[in-house]
Amino acid sequence: MNTPSFIYTANPSRVVFGAGALQQVGAEVERLGARRALVLSTPEQADAAARVASLLGERAAGIFAKAVMHVPIETAREARAEAARLGADCAVAIGGGSTTGLGKAIALESSLPIIAIPTTYAGSEVTSIWGLTEGGVKKTGRDARVLPRTVIYDPELTLTLPLALTVTSALNAIAHAAEGLYAHDGNPVTALMAEEGIRASAAALPALQRDPRDLAARADALQGAWLCGVVLGSVAMGLHHKLCHTLGGTFNLPHAETHTVVLPHALAYNAAQAPQAMARIARALGLGDGPAAAAEVPRALQALAARHGAPTSLRALGMPAEGVDRAADLAVTTPYPNPRPLERAALRALIQGAFEGAPPEGR
Ligand code: NAD
Repeated sequence: MNTPSFIYTANPSRVVFGAGALQQVGAEVERLGARRALVLSTPEQADAAARVASLLGERAAGIFAKAVMHVPIETAREARAEAARLGADCAVAIGGGSTTGLGKAIALESSLPIIAIPTTYAGSEVTSIWGLTEGGVKKTGRDARVLPRTVIYDPELTLTLPLALTVTSALNAIAHAAEGLYAHDGNPVTALMAEEGIRASAAALPALQRDPRDLAARADALQGAWLCGVVLGSVAMGLHHKLCHTLGGTFNLPHAETHTVVLPHALAYNAAQAPQAMARIARALGLGDGPAAAAEVPRALQALAARHGAPTSLRALGMPAEGVDRAADLAVTTPYPNPRPLERAALRALIQGAFEGAPPEGR
């Protein structure tokens, strides 16, 4: 009989969670011993950045509201130069994964401490994974320097998250936890976090569809996102994340939406080789116990997306039909850990199914 065997290195993190927690940003900057914070955001969230700067008062060195998706190297360089010009001794990133990513790009070179204030469910704020795009190619890596020192989770900041992005972002979070459940380097702690993360994220969606300003449901979704993000940051991701990375990078597809479309298909591909993970996901989604419930997971996730108005096909996201073969080629070029071996024909069928929005099947 196999007995468990694992090595678990937990990422250090300080989490300040609660409605109104944003008010504590000044105290958290002070706690880091910093005096000149550069506040980061996307152009769309410049108001949120201005609010942070006003809360920081004299501790705000400036605002850089130019974060965009996938952290282009040019933006990273401009932000690094601005941080140096202002003599910033910390960065405060308020926004989704794109803004957190810009903070990480600054930290990667300067080791500047980052305070992350997430406003989506991407989970980047609790991982040491960075990403940078140069010449149309996205590179990622892990580096302890980019892990935000402090995360402020304030569910009030997510009240404005549009319903469409709420749903796809929550499914992005669920994807981290789902793959974490069959990761080769998972452990009992990450499994607990993954199961509860999926439960909290999925349970929040019906309430948020009824009322996107339901603060209690927003808090549930944010706690779910935190747990799922910790899983992403702790264990190796498999087929689903690699496929999304390839598809997003090659065809410039939107991040959370791509995760939403691909997840049911990737799980169907892996299901037979990951029965325990599928059983835990089934339980977390409220489908019940046993193999029959586990077998329902891929379709239940696709139905969850569809029911809440999220996209279910890559075609709808703008992927060209002739891209299916290229994506299948790319999916097998660099090997990575995955419960089921990577078979080109089966992967091509998976991608074709995701392209068309077909029901997910374990081909
Ligand atoms: P995003 O950060 O690109 O945000 C999408 C849009 O929503 C932006 O315009 C943003 O300003 C807006 N927005 C965010 N929160 C809002 C709110 N509360 N109210 C109104 N508008 C809001 O989207 P994302 O899905 O959070 O992040 C995607 C990026 O994060 C991708 O580049 C992905 O690769 C990266 N990511 C990295 C990690 C990691 O660990 N490194 C993990 C997950 C995602």
